[in-house]
Amino acid sequence: MNAQPTPAIDWDAVRADFPLLQREVHGKPLIYFDNANTGQKPACVIEAVDGFYRRHNANVSRAVHQLGSEATDAYEASRKALARFLNVRAEELVLCSGTTFAINLVAYSWALPRLQPGDAILVSRMEHHANIVPWQLVAERTGAVVRVVEIRDDGTLDQDALQQAMTPDVKLLALTHVSNVLGTVNPVREICRDARRRGIVTVIDGSQAVPHRRVDVAAIGCDFYAFTGHKMCGPTGTGALWARREHLHAMPPFLGGGEMIREVAFEGTVYNDPPHRFEAGTPNIAGFVGLGAAVAYLERLGMEQVERREAELLAHLTEELQRIDGLRIFGTAPDKAAVVAFLVEGAHAHDLATLLDLEGVAIRSGQHCAHPLLKFYGVAATCRASPAFYNTHAEIEGFVSALRKVRTLLA
Ligand code: PLP
Repeated sequence: MNAQPTPAIDWDAVRADFPLLQREVHGKPLIYFDNANTGQKPACVIEAVDGFYRRHNANVSRAVHQLGSEATDAYEASRKALARFLNVRAEELVLCSGTTFAINLVAYSWALPRLQPGDAILVSRMEHHANIVPWQLVAERTGAVVRVVEIRDDGTLDQDALQQAMTPDVKLLALTHVSNVLGTVNPVREICRDARRRGIVTVIDGSQAVPHRRVDVAAIGCDFYAFTGHKMCGPTGTGALWARREHLHAMPPFLGGGEMIREVAFEGTVYNDPPHRFEAGTPNIAGFVGLGAAVAYLERLGMEQVERREAELLAHLTEELQRIDGLRIFGTAPDKAAVVAFLVEGAHAHDLATLLDLEGVAIRSGQHCAHPLLKFYGVAATCRASPAFYNTHAEIEGFVSALRKVRTLLA
């Protein structure tokens, strides 16, 4: 039987799903290339949040009335949708405010009670601060040490250094799936397999992976996988931590309050089962309803199509930028997501970004919450352009010609 060809996607129609992309900035059509920072939202996500507040708003898991059960059902339906999207079980998915919360949850509930002097935590040079600072806080409190696995000049992880660093004292490896500065895609499946053989627990930061490619968390074989909803078409303040069942059941709560308990008495409190044990207080219910709609939207597009589209945009953007004299790109890994960090000789990153903004182009400049990575390259700041599937080839050309123009202003 012949396989059916995948129907071609009308990317102009997809773009029209995103109301904000129609606006102008400083009198120019907006070119939004700051998707690694946060993504734009399709109308269906905005409508899902709006519809929740208009028709279903109530707290979850508390009231017996109709609205209470509708809100609970909608919230739990989003957990299930996310779990299917990542190929994990819903009861292993803790809903939280995003990657930062998720990694801190692992740090405080898993690492803090277990690590001790003589233990080591491995992180890579290319981590976001959210996957560095929680481990430093744990190390300070436990006497464990944080060790760094270096990268190569092209922005790939030094695999030999990693192998050598996985010594018997290492209890935990915290690694990003995709770098938010270099775009490097780390071979997390192979790395987690090696770590597991050596008894090292793995925490993968999936913030920049989940929005851009199909992520099968079960196939990766990590212990913890953290990600954020606002980069994947969902509302801000949403995200999740996936954890192996045995870890979740062995972990004490991180925060105490409503929802995370089964019974409270002054003589002693009985905690709820995971994942609710880790969801104290009223969650961002409307946000998760929106994130459920975002997952449905991405599923309709197909993550393979998203990945292919972004690879085309990245190839075009890289080619155009390489034609600019004195422009240096940071991160040239063979497997790379659509994130391009760059500097132009003679121009400060912030000046470029500020002048580009006046041309209607939104890119990020600065250190991208990755101070140790920029130190490795010996630079104080870079520009970062990060297109998403709803951007166009015409926008890449518009961005590059705006860049050429503002550069001459700074010369
Ligand atoms: N990790 C990476 C790789 C990121 O890109 C980000 C966000 O920029 C984070 C962690 C932190 O995510 P959040 O601010 O949503 O918690």
